[in-house]
Amino acid sequence: MSKPVVAIVGRPNVGKSTLFNALAGEMISIVKDTPGITRDRIYADVNWLDKDFTLIDTGGIEPDSKDVILSQMRDQAQIAIDTADVILFITDVKQGLVDSDSKVADMLRRSKKPVVLVVNKVDNFDKFMPDVYEFYNLGIGDPVPISAASRLGLGDMLDVVTEYFPEGAGEEGEDDRPRIAIVGKPNVGKSSIVNKLLGENRVIVSDVAGTTRDAIDTEIVHDGKEYIFIDTAGLRRKSRIKEELERYSIIRTVAAVERADVVLLIIDAVEGVTEQDAKIAGIAHERGKGILIVVNKWDAIEKHDKTMKEYENKIRQVLSYLSYAEILFVSAFTGQRLSKLYERIDIIIENQTLRVATGVLNEIMSEAVAMQQPPSDKGKRLKLYYITQVSVKPPTFVIFVNDKTLMHFSYTRYLENKIREAFGFRGISLKFFIRERK
Ligand code: GDP
Ligand code: GDP
Repeated sequence: MSKPVVAIVGRPNVGKSTLFNALAGEMISIVKDTPGITRDRIYADVNWLDKDFTLIDTGGIEPDSKDVILSQMRDQAQIAIDTADVILFITDVKQGLVDSDSKVADMLRRSKKPVVLVVNKVDNFDKFMPDVYEFYNLGIGDPVPISAASRLGLGDMLDVVTEYFPEGAGEEGEDDRPRIAIVGKPNVGKSSIVNKLLGENRVIVSDVAGTTRDAIDTEIVHDGKEYIFIDTAGLRRKSRIKEELERYSIIRTVAAVERADVVLLIIDAVEGVTEQDAKIAGIAHERGKGILIVVNKWDAIEKHDKTMKEYENKIRQVLSYLSYAEILFVSAFTGQRLSKLYERIDIIIENQTLRVATGVLNEIMSEAVAMQQPPSDKGKRLKLYYITQVSVKPPTFVIFVNDKTLMHFSYTRYLENKIREAFGFRGISLKFFIRERK
């Protein structure tokens, strides 16, 4: 169910954040109860005429001098080329065509990615249109005039953007090979893990059909089974500037997670689990992906017989909302337990597509209800009529009740635990919808 990714690129001050905010509106993609991920406005879920996409702002870092602008723009453009289905290249009618615009345009043109050339600050279409034509010189197609500040032309711009979306985007593809994203802060050992996995297996760089982001995914065959590792090229690319590194690692994460079935969240054993880990974990969690927590550099830790347990407790504390995820301790250096990754991935994939029969679910629910009375309020007690699984990836359940307002979060959690006791569902989040039946 991978959503298209649209990335915004452009020089400082052309209005990228203004446009981002106008499109994202109030619908900024943050899960309020996931700690640690509420500050960033790097990505947002946007919906336009029944089409959903993830919008990414690649800008945002103030360059400290004029000569770094171009190199930073190149970095941004490269990120967009690697991660996006469609690139929104923003220019500014008030400043006119600038040399760095042309250089970035060349780079985007060579990438063969769909690019929508946007000319911003066209606050008055009649007055400024003649100035817009100049942007044809960039040779990347028709300039689309907008005013991000006064929200003019945004609908026409989105029409052009969504036309580029790959056929069947947002739907399940025919490709049933598991897609795995390796995510984590910079320097936790993501590339080392991939390299180690690659070293021991036959490698084919894949052209995955139905996506415009091909040739950056890697297929690994293990035990006769095929696995697609997402954006492995990006893992090896490093940025020079620290703030950029962090921002880009978030952008990469969002784009990779969007396309993945299973997310391997890599944590550095030497550094321990941090707020930034929590932020990255939150991205996978809120998108309902299968998750395996992988503690890397286990070779570099001095251990006694309780070290693993202590580590696990610490991780569970910081990433409390990932209680369903298993933890694996590995070393990319020695290769310790790396082969177990495939086993765990297989289990998660199986769980993601598990369907529980309605009869069995209702048995579990009535037993649960008999053991612990549902909550009541002002003399009215919650009645649970019926539960059924409506979809997979992630498994989603609907519970029919007499009065929705009586259903506490804690009681849903209690039922979830009962279902997990019976079926495990390790590594994946479960979704519950409560509906009223009169
Ligand atoms: P960024 O650096 O590309 O993210 O640019 P910002 O979104 O921060 O905008 C830079 C400046 O341009 C701000 O002062 C904005 O208010 C202004 N700006 C953005 N969009 C428009 C627009 O459509 N018209 C005009 N006149 N100014 C705009
Ligand atoms: P990435 O930024 O997450 O892709 O991290 P890298 O794979 O580039 O690794 C960052 C640093 O950690 C490098 O200096 C690696 O040599 C080191 N490293 C990676 N895996 C391990 C490991 O399993 N054990 C130890 N001791 N160091 C590791």
